[in-house]
Amino acid sequence: MTDRILRADRLEQSMNIGKERRVAQFIRDYRSVAVQIGPRQWRLFFETGQINKNLPATDLNHICGAAPVQMATRQVVEQIKSWISNRANEFADIVRSSKLPPKLRKQLYAINRRRAWFITSTPLKGIDKECSSCGYVDRRNRRSQSEFLCRFCGMQKHADVNAACTVKGRRSSGLGDKFPTKDAILAMLTRQHSERFPRSQGAAADPRLTNRYWSVAARNALTQDLASCVQKQ
Ligand SMILES: [Zn+2]
Repeated sequence: MTDRILRADRLEQSMNIGKERRVAQFIRDYRSVAVQIGPRQWRLFFETGQINKNLPATDLNHICGAAPVQMATRQVVEQIKSWISNRANEFADIVRSSKLPPKLRKQLYAINRRRAWFITSTPLKGIDKECSSCGYVDRRNRRSQSEFLCRFCGMQKHADVNAACTVKGRRSSGLGDKFPTKDAILAMLTRQHSERFPRSQGAAADPRLTNRYWSVAARNALTQDLASCVQKQ
């Protein structure tokens, strides 16, 4: 009589074979969605310094449906967030236990707060002379070791804080994943600035006209308005 009692845990299949197959397939699909979301979030992080749990991935919906894709996105983001936060803590510990001079430490803490450690992938040339607000590059922007005052837009910040902001800005400006020469960076920065502020402030006021970083070619690239100012000089 006892051997006629059906015990599920003694069966070879504890689950209906068709259902088990569907579950196995779902797990495979879910994993394939997750490994596609991971690189997208990392790319976002390298480009903007942030990850986004609401980043749409609707092109993956056909794999296992919209709800699992959303769930996978959130799960991946949480994993990355926790990983990044652990690295930030480690970085702070290393700086704290080091014998670095206080000024450099302060700079490293500022970098850490902005999660901007991927410094080797960001061209840093001239970073201390570039305004993080308007992008203007000028030696004269740097008034002292700690003081930064933009000659173009008037922005004033602690020089280290300005540099940390600029690292972030450069990463998203398209300079981040290239390793150009110093001249190429200057040419690009001056061109970007000229495009952003094409109108001259006047021959006397516009610091670009007396800035040695603005090559003749870069000045000529400015609009007629500024070009005519240069000619008048
Ligand atoms: Zn500025």
